[in-house]
Amino acid sequence: MNEVMVDVHGVHKSFGPLHVLRGVDLTVRTGEVAVILGPSGSGKSTLLRTLNHLEKVDSGWIGIDGELIGYRRSGDKLYERREKDVLRQRTRIGFVFQNFNLFPHLTVLDNLVEAPVSALRRRRRETEETARRLLDRVGLADKADAYPRQLSGGQQQRVAIARALALEPKVLLFDEPTSALDPELVGEVLDVIKDLARTGTTMIVVTHEIGFAREVADTVVFMDGGVVVEQGPPAAVLDAPRHARTRAFLSKVL
Ligand code: ADP
Ligand code: MG
Repeated sequence: MNEVMVDVHGVHKSFGPLHVLRGVDLTVRTGEVAVILGPSGSGKSTLLRTLNHLEKVDSGWIGIDGELIGYRRSGDKLYERREKDVLRQRTRIGFVFQNFNLFPHLTVLDNLVEAPVSALRRRRRETEETARRLLDRVGLADKADAYPRQLSGGQQQRVAIARALALEPKVLLFDEPTSALDPELVGEVLDVIKDLARTGTTMIVVTHEIGFAREVADTVVFMDGGVVVEQGPPAAVLDAPRHARTRAFLSKVL
């Protein structure tokens, strides 16, 4: 059994009066692909965002690769981490958004080079070599000098994935990476994610693509109402769900 990479324990998060995460527990092991399914508004994006410091939790804790996210423990007390530690932790967790979020004024190559050079103080020349390798890996070696607006949505999302990989993250988070794409462009993005899965990249993917979940997920997580209702292998959760809420959701999307 692999080591635990992502460990979420009893996480709560409210926005004002809205109690969005209501005690989330989740475990993802090193090299695993976890696919999170669940109805709109169930807290999937909020959960991903807490993993990458885009939201602060109200209670509970999150560990990634053996480190507490946002806090450090001293005895039985938790202390908030300093800004510098938060930035370091954030660079180790890649995030791919629904709407690509590329820097529009930078070329494709510079989109990949920017963060390693500015946040990790890598040398520009070596970073460019790595960036070109990554572009080749996502099938876009010939687009290094293009600007994002010159690319299709599928190509932009593949650049966004390469950009996340350029930081050599411990874990990659995807928030509905194909839901902004025209249907004919979904496959090329899912193929890149499948390729990463084969090479043992630890990933958490929020998606409505049930076929992808069945094919690629090591563990499927069903969220509803701010909690993980059930988690298990695809065959268990998708074909023999134990909870009525999971069955109701699947009957709508399958
Ligand atoms: P999902 O990704 O499963 O659709 P979200 O995590 O995006 O769900 O949202 C869960 C709930 O939290 C929704 O009702 C949403 O409107 C609310 N929410 C999310 N982010 C914020 C925010 N920054 N401020 C206020 N409400 C928010
Ligand atoms: Mg969402």
